[in-house]
Amino acid sequence: MRDIFIGTDSGATTSKTCGVYDDGTPVTLQLAQSSTNSQHGTKIVVEGWIAGVEKFLAENQLSWAQVKAVGLALPGPYQSYGVLDRTANLPASFAGWDFFSDYAAALKQKAGRDVPLVTGNDGNYGGVAEAAKVRGTKKAGVLMLAPGSGLGAAYVNPEGLPLDGDTFAGMEAGHMPAPLHLLGLPEFACGCGRTWGCFEAYTSISGLVQYLEHLVPKYPQHEFHGSPQTMKEKAFSLRTLAQKGDPLALEIFDYQAKALGIHVANLSLALDAEFVVIGGGLIDPHATTEEFRARYLGGIKAAAEPWLFPAQKKTIQILPASMGELSQGIGAALVALYKFGS
Ligand SMILES: [Zn+2]
Repeated sequence: MRDIFIGTDSGATTSKTCGVYDDGTPVTLQLAQSSTNSQHGTKIVVEGWIAGVEKFLAENQLSWAQVKAVGLALPGPYQSYGVLDRTANLPASFAGWDFFSDYAAALKQKAGRDVPLVTGNDGNYGGVAEAAKVRGTKKAGVLMLAPGSGLGAAYVNPEGLPLDGDTFAGMEAGHMPAPLHLLGLPEFACGCGRTWGCFEAYTSISGLVQYLEHLVPKYPQHEFHGSPQTMKEKAFSLRTLAQKGDPLALEIFDYQAKALGIHVANLSLALDAEFVVIGGGLIDPHATTEEFRARYLGGIKAAAEPWLFPAQKKTIQILPASMGELSQGIGAALVALYKFGS
């Protein structure tokens, strides 16, 4: 009977359950998910996590006796380790919730013994799974940058664990300032409230409307002029337009690639990671063409290069993410393995 390590990935709306064996191999690559039900309170959320584990065990012919440890990925911010702070995606009553203690108690009741538990930020845990995939058995650091609605960032050390920081705000690197003189762009506002030109605004969906306001006047023939769409709708159509070669859309994503590349170089000066994994919807093979992805990754590499040290230029590998929706759950299971495996 092999030991297994469970990963619970709790999002605001859906929760996923994953598992790995003691050698780090995923138990399954099938996605097992259920509703988080946060509107019914914290007790129901914890019951949902437990039900997710039970279902996962049953579907894979496994038992509680095999569960050596559990990892829980949950989006921050936190007040302290395992204690949630106020967050936009969850009910206000969840602020101050000691989710770590509640889940540990529920696991103990179900398994009939203490089950070691570790918890952390979902983005960091996603980085852990991508890191394990790209570096295999090699001892090397991995930086992950994943532009989506915001810019997710994680650093995973050669032992496989993420940089969390002392107040769990480590690697909030999307809110570091971009060198605007290199980008040749005006200051974009950022959702975090900082006004120093956060990288997040130049690299993710969050800044697309500001790109449009700045660049649409440069394309007087563009279909956006006189279009009844809102700015937000126009912004959301850009990825599709870029796949058809629309020059405005391509210019915006070229800017995003350039900003992301500069940030890779920025972070390489602090972290010096051999592997850089780029996630997000622009490198998703289901959403973009091969030609577009090559252009985007090429733009990132070209923008990073001039600022790297010679040894870094030779070793750094900038690669697309490949774990998709499983990354945070598998990452949580892997952190449990790295912390509590023998
Ligand atoms: Zn910001």
